[in-house]
Amino acid sequence: MSLLTVSDLSVFYGAKAQAVERIEFDVAERAVVALLGANGAGKSSSMKAIAGLIPCTGSVVFDGEKLDGLPARERVRRGIVYVPEGRAVVGNLTVRENLVLGGYQASAAERRERMAMVLDLFPEIADRADGPAWRMSGGEQQMLAIGRGLMAGPRLLLLDEPSLGLAPLLVRRVFERLSAIRRESNLAIVLVEQNLAMTMRLSDEIHFLRGGRIVGHRAVGELRDKAARQEAIDAYLGAA
Ligand code: ATP
Repeated sequence: MSLLTVSDLSVFYGAKAQAVERIEFDVAERAVVALLGANGAGKSSSMKAIAGLIPCTGSVVFDGEKLDGLPARERVRRGIVYVPEGRAVVGNLTVRENLVLGGYQASAAERRERMAMVLDLFPEIADRADGPAWRMSGGEQQMLAIGRGLMAGPRLLLLDEPSLGLAPLLVRRVFERLSAIRRESNLAIVLVEQNLAMTMRLSDEIHFLRGGRIVGHRAVGELRDKAARQEAIDAYLGAA
């Protein structure tokens, strides 16, 4: 059974602006599924709709139950956690306080256990746990944002452009950690990205988004061949 089934999902901003048009996809337990597309393709809107942060039409089924109309905090309680693009850490709080915020619905024991797991996974932020978050570099803030998501004990992590604004070396580091998370936990991930190479390192399957629609999909295994990769880029990610 799928962990997440998205059917016929549409997002409108006002009466005329349709950001997402009837998209459908499935995420199996422990799978990593990517939504890849250019700026404005509708990737963030899709993720926010699944997280319950913006209104949508269509249906989202998680773990066999329809989520229609459920508020975001209830979706978090069930295990759907959104890590926004642009990191959005709280600069004036310490690293540790930011992490505690992510586990606000957890018991004290769960929070302690998850905090230890996150600090172990991201030694860069563990070294600075009691310093203010604003002092961290972009890459460290991204790790903190992912760590904060993990504090909620997700079964499905919705990761919005973890590579955004990071130097290539840091992008690689963040993706290495994501691979480690993937190996060590029961987590499924929906990853939103513009970067095909990084997306391929982590994902099982890629859906290509353009103009609010899914215009194609490929198993990552089908893209190992350079010609096949180029063909997909030309077909799905070329000029809008
Ligand atoms: P990006 O990587 O630039 O965030 P994206 O693929 O995530 O791109 P969305 O942010 O989902 O795309 O945006 C899809 C469309 O919806 C775009 O045309 C965008 O201008 C529009 N849009 C996004 N947010 C709003 C909003 N709050 N109000 C009105 N239109 C919006």
